[in-house]
Amino acid sequence: MFQSYESTRNSSLVSTASKAVLKGIADDGGLYVMRNIEDKNIDIERLQGKSYTEIAEEILSIMLDDFPKDKIKQCVKNAYTGKFSTDEITPVVKVGDSYVSELFHGPTSAFKDVALSILPHLLTTAYDMNDLKGEVIILTATSGDTGKAALEGFKDVKGTKIIVFYPDGGVSQVQKAQMATQEGTNTYVCAIKGNFDDAQTGVKNIFANENLRDELEKRNEMFSSANSINIGRLVPQIVYYFYAYMKLVESNSIKIGDKVNFAVPTGNFGNILAGYYAKNLGLPVNKLICGSNENNVLYDFIRTGIYDKNREFHKTISPSMDILVSSNLERLLYYVSGKDNNTIKNLMEQLNTAGKYEVSDEMKKVISEEFYANCVFKNETEETIKSVFEKYGYLLDTHTAVAYKALETYKNETNDNTMSIVLSTASPYKFSKSVYESLYNETNSDEFEIMQELSEKTGVKIPENLKGLKEKKVIHKEVCEKDEMEIYVRKIAMK
Ligand SMILES: *Cc1c(COP(=O)(O)O)cnc(C)c1O
Repeated sequence: MFQSYESTRNSSLVSTASKAVLKGIADDGGLYVMRNIEDKNIDIERLQGKSYTEIAEEILSIMLDDFPKDKIKQCVKNAYTGKFSTDEITPVVKVGDSYVSELFHGPTSAFKDVALSILPHLLTTAYDMNDLKGEVIILTATSGDTGKAALEGFKDVKGTKIIVFYPDGGVSQVQKAQMATQEGTNTYVCAIKGNFDDAQTGVKNIFANENLRDELEKRNEMFSSANSINIGRLVPQIVYYFYAYMKLVESNSIKIGDKVNFAVPTGNFGNILAGYYAKNLGLPVNKLICGSNENNVLYDFIRTGIYDKNREFHKTISPSMDILVSSNLERLLYYVSGKDNNTIKNLMEQLNTAGKYEVSDEMKKVISEEFYANCVFKNETEETIKSVFEKYGYLLDTHTAVAYKALETYKNETNDNTMSIVLSTASPYKFSKSVYESLYNETNSDEFEIMQELSEKTGVKIPENLKGLKEKKVIHKEVCEKDEMEIYVRKIAMK
């Protein structure tokens, strides 16, 4: 019963939702996918008048089907009560002819808060459900945003400790301040002398260290990750697609049953995949519009069916989308191949060995029916921020601007008049420097001063969590060599 999930690469590796949350990734390296998603359905008529948290309870209960309903309710309550700057959690605002779903009102002002606020509670619930005792230790390597959102999510959650590694000198002034001032009795932050890849490799090595794992097991402890391939991060992201849709119904912008488009700034393909799940659960979605930056591997893939990561890596002004291997795409491939695990296994082997694969014509066709892709480079991103602010007084961040522009291009190319919603993934103040430069063609080296100036000039308020940051006490000063990460982890685990 309830073995609703399987590995994308092997249909005999099945799992309950709770075990999938605990494990993160299947034993064969595949991702857990819900097998019979087409049998599940959310009746949107019944969602009318419901709050964000009520919609969340409905969707989580359906997708995490072995979790008792009262536990889901408790997780939702713990995650979202008092943690976001608005009870709406993800408010929707009209900008020009379209809508923007603001996903950045959480504790770190980025969309990853929506899922990382609830993941710790899902994880500890799954732990209890599977009769495990003791402590979960979360290990995360971050290039900036995920680490902080994970720290806030796990802060003071009973039964957990969280350790975050970031590259010393490799994150922005604001990102560093966010992590170094992190509060909570179970939070640990360490800068490492190396780049993001070194941090990530170090974490992978610790996960793979069987001796250490055995030692922890004897102490009733286990490692886990807050990685975006965990279904515990994917599932909570489905909620805001439904919520945004219901808001448009409520404001009479659409009638219930009308289709809408969603435009999504895309990196690891997690956010937009949640939209695909929403559609499969019955949300009337026309196109999912995938916005890429200069790292336009997904743009090429959606247009040609060829995924090729053998290309130059660009550092862009939308750094949270700087990625060449979009892990969650594997889940889409599973569904559009008709759940053909062998095909997925083959494609992923090709990606591993040659860095490249091509999907069948049939898969190509299905993908291009569901998705539209465009890529937006630095100049166009900056122009979009400037023109949207001048026309509508609305300030986009650098990631959201990519999706906004991709939607504009889509509309021009297709004359599709379907109502559209852009998902906004970060507060403009999270990327103040680039936003400021887009508007005023000048800059300043102190990010906190820029934030202040941007607010004075635009009249857009700085989120409280970023505003107070400069004055907050620095708590974490640890720096270690990249080959000392295990020593650091042991010290904390064995406390
Ligand atoms: C992580 C992130 C993205 C990309 O989302 P994916 O789910 O990885 O596609 C976009 N914008 C911001 C601000 C992010 O932090």
